[in-house]
Amino acid sequence: MNLITLPEQVTEAVRKVIGNGPIKLHEPSFTGNEIKYIEDCINSTYVSSVGKYVDQFEVELSKFTGANYAVSIVNGTAALHLALKLAGVENDDEVLVQAFTFVGSVNAISYCGAVPHFVDIEKENLGVDPVKLQDYLTEITAKLKRETTNKFTGRRIKALVVMHTFGHPSKMDELLEVSKKFNIKIIEDAAESIGSYYKDKHTGTLGQLGTLSFNGNKTITTGGGGAILTNNLELARRAKHLSTTAKVSHKWAFRHDEIGYNYRMPNINAALGCAQLEDLHLKLEKKEKLFNEYKFQFSKIEGVSIVEEPTDCKSNYWLQTIKLDLPNLALRNEILDDLNSAGFMSRPGWDLINTLKPYSHNPSMTLECAKELFSCIINIPSNFST
Ligand SMILES: *Cc1c(COP(=O)(O)O)cnc(C)c1O
Repeated sequence: MNLITLPEQVTEAVRKVIGNGPIKLHEPSFTGNEIKYIEDCINSTYVSSVGKYVDQFEVELSKFTGANYAVSIVNGTAALHLALKLAGVENDDEVLVQAFTFVGSVNAISYCGAVPHFVDIEKENLGVDPVKLQDYLTEITAKLKRETTNKFTGRRIKALVVMHTFGHPSKMDELLEVSKKFNIKIIEDAAESIGSYYKDKHTGTLGQLGTLSFNGNKTITTGGGGAILTNNLELARRAKHLSTTAKVSHKWAFRHDEIGYNYRMPNINAALGCAQLEDLHLKLEKKEKLFNEYKFQFSKIEGVSIVEEPTDCKSNYWLQTIKLDLPNLALRNEILDDLNSAGFMSRPGWDLINTLKPYSHNPSMTLECAKELFSCIINIPSNFST
């Protein structure tokens, strides 16, 4: 029966779900009060970092995620930078992070003067592998006082960045256990996972701090934007203070009590965010529907499967991902060519960060699973439109 090639079958499956191209990998969708709220900003002249939408966005975000506090930030990378600083990451510390991630996860560590140290992922959730991590840390660390030190570099290992890949929650219970054992703080990079839950908890609320992104390619957007989530009042206060140039509140004086950042989200972006949040439930429903349609089509093709939400988790299905069985890896580029030529914008996973020039000399465990995953996945069009 298999008269057509695997690349042709994949392209045909995508066509059956979303019709004819051209179609982007992911486009924002504006279906609610976006224009109304932005117009309101302009009419009120409050377009910058003070205004009612910034506060409202934070209230709504904390309600939606269940985090006690949400602090709006200019973008996801800046949010992660600040979260790492708040977790106590300092110059010359090491911070563990998966090598299979967007480069922003890793750059934020470098902004702190710390050294990214790469760890492997596992296949089920596509997140940091807790078993491998525990074995690795047991092997390479020594405990000095209450701190964990890398025996080979002499540097303190301060934190672990856990990213929820393509919206699929990582194995948080197991990772939290490892982090406790080694006294390492967990910062969740939940840039891709608004609307995703680990057990009954929203991603980004399980570690000491979590961060979100509202870039144009994410599930909801503020143009550019991000947020810090935390349940700790003091950390939330510090996040707000440091993101607003560490300015001390005063009737008229310009007093700044430490070196702060201009990282606060502008009101006009938050206005967009408030409107987007109102429709988030609808957007998540559309994502799930799209996943189910793809799942049905790909179930009929041998040698390819679609990535599903992990056990005990709810995924937002930000990006739909297909995985080639090992014998078909050689066909990955051909499939990418075929999909893109047909107008179905599709992309491989990120180049592993340890292979990028600025990070090629960083400490790393072996990365078998990350390498395999990189070679076998393809992200296919994931818009809200169907
Ligand atoms: C998008 C993204 C970020 C950064 O977000 P920006 O808002 O673009 O700075 C960080 N980490 C991951 C995993 C992302 O996907």
